[in-house]
Amino acid sequence: MASTVHARIPLSLLEAIRRIDTPEDQVDAEYVQELRNKRLGLSDTVYTQIRRYSEATKRGQKIPFAEASGLGTLIGRRPDSDELFSTAGKILARDIYDSIATPKRRMMGFMPGFIARPMALKELQSIAVNFFGGTLVHSGSFLQLQIPESVTVNGAPKSAGCAFYESAFRELLQLLVKGGEQVDHVSCVQRNEGVCEWRAEWRTSH
Ligand SMILES: [Zn+2]
Repeated sequence: MASTVHARIPLSLLEAIRRIDTPEDQVDAEYVQELRNKRLGLSDTVYTQIRRYSEATKRGQKIPFAEASGLGTLIGRRPDSDELFSTAGKILARDIYDSIATPKRRMMGFMPGFIARPMALKELQSIAVNFFGGTLVHSGSFLQLQIPESVTVNGAPKSAGCAFYESAFRELLQLLVKGGEQVDHVSCVQRNEGVCEWRAEWRTSH
């Protein structure tokens, strides 16, 4: 079991809770106050933790695995867990993408595929290792993302927690190469298949 995870992992899970629990119309202060007492996403504890994870991200500090998987379990118990896992994945992908140096992002956006795709592949491979604690392999017309120690895999029944990594992977493919239409969760730790693995289509050019 990995002892630590990248701070952006728990940060994105909590940030999803905060965003979804924040009412769109915040004019009614009294109503917000009432909600604050009821809903976790608006509690001071959540704000404090978000700050803590943001600081840890800046300093490159890791977070205990158990702490991040606890958030996975917390989300898994909520009726809106599907939306939360998928939103958290998108937040994670966007944050990771934004952390890539701007000139590099621009190059990947404007260069022809035969230059941009190998760059994006290299980027995805380092993201898999550094942020997901996994590996990404390019095999023929597919990418295989393997995550042996997922913080959300046991967060919900029927592998619903795996939507967190899946949506992050999908979103990264969209941001980097306008891809991600076809991503399948082909093996899962929750089904005793050893590793959580996703397969995505990967064209080598255009
Ligand atoms: Zn899985």
